[in-house]
Amino acid sequence: MMKIQVVGVVGAGVMGIGVAQNLAQTGHQVILVDISEEILDKAKKEIKNNIRFQGFFNKNEKAENPDNILHRIKFSTNYKFLESAEFVIENATEKWDIKKEIYAQLDAICPPETVFAANTSAISITRIGSATKRADKIIGMHFMNPVPMKPMVEMIRGYHTSDETISTAKELLAQMGKEGILVNDSPGFVSNRVLMLTINEAIFLIQDQVASVSEVDRIFKTCFGHKMGPLETADLIGLDTILFSVEVLYESFNDSKYRPCPLLKKMVDAGLYGRKSGQGFYSYNGAI
Ligand code: NAD
Repeated sequence: MMKIQVVGVVGAGVMGIGVAQNLAQTGHQVILVDISEEILDKAKKEIKNNIRFQGFFNKNEKAENPDNILHRIKFSTNYKFLESAEFVIENATEKWDIKKEIYAQLDAICPPETVFAANTSAISITRIGSATKRADKIIGMHFMNPVPMKPMVEMIRGYHTSDETISTAKELLAQMGKEGILVNDSPGFVSNRVLMLTINEAIFLIQDQVASVSEVDRIFKTCFGHKMGPLETADLIGLDTILFSVEVLYESFNDSKYRPCPLLKKMVDAGLYGRKSGQGFYSYNGAI
């Protein structure tokens, strides 16, 4: 397959920034769209910092000038530019009402052959397909955070997703230096059906004062050999995204085991989103 040259990236938050950076570093032209210039300016600064930061760790590799990489990304609030995208990766807020609008817009703007990949934590890919007239060209690409450092992506086949769409998505992943594990569609897929429930339950442990934040995380790290504990992971993902994802699972399965922990709701109401806001279960003194 020919190299996919132009990739649209919708949403310039935690994930959109990582996806856009990865694509630009692998030589793709990127159109990064979000709803305000302010968000896009912040995204540009973060991508620049992240490229520099990564440069420190990859001293042996021939590093490309960060400005050259940034030049491959067009930052815009205008969806119209996505008409030239051969492939779109959507990374907007984990809310169905928001995503539904976005897919209707993309469907109207992009050529009929363009594949749309949803980087969602829990929303059904089949449901996303229903918001478009191209359900066969909708696929789930659940990237891991931080995107440029993570070689594996959970790929999700929606009810109507075609084999051709799957091979196009695999090809793009290969171009990005990644591989995919393909699973069938179900809310939360494999990873987040387990992870979100684990994190939610870990928050119940804090609420019930069974142990402290660092004790909970240390048990996972030192007893199970996990690299990070569930509460550190929650801070990395973003507590708002965790809450939205648990709510999606709760609504999708109508099963009370997915009820969001009240402490999680309270922290989100208080603006304690984790790393991205500087405070979650841990403090990040202006680090990000
Ligand atoms: P985020 O809150 O950091 O960013 C979401 C971005 O979407 C924001 O910048 C917001 O302004 C933008 N947005 C909202 N409405 C939009 C619209 N109409 N058009 C364009 N942009 C719009 O969230 P995130 O953590 O980057 O998550 C994005 C998606 O990726 C979610 O579906 C989430 O579930 C999923 N995801 C998150 C993680 C993670 O670790 N955070 C991992 C995998 C997948």
